Amino acid sequence: MTRILFWLALIFLVVAAIRSKLKSASRPPEQQSGRARAAEAPPQAEAMLCCSHCGVHYPASENVASDGRNYCSAAHAGLPAP
Ligand SMILES: [Zn+2]
Repeated sequence: MTRILFWLALIFLVVAAIRSKLKSASRPPEQQSGRARAAEAPPQAEAMLCCSHCGVHYPASENVASDGRNYCSAAHAGLPAP
């Protein structure tokens, strides 16, 4: 009976060791150097919109909205869609 308990305890320890190893291997950057990683992280990607006139993709911050449509510039906002 003690042999069975010994093997069960051994298996449990091995499984626990493997799980902790996998957990630390799956995300080491955040745990080890979270602050440095955040500083190196690229800025958030800006949403892109498609111009209703020329079809070019441009950042949402440069959007010129007119008549419920999105345009890349004021010049295209005044032109009719092709
Ligand atoms: Zn355009």
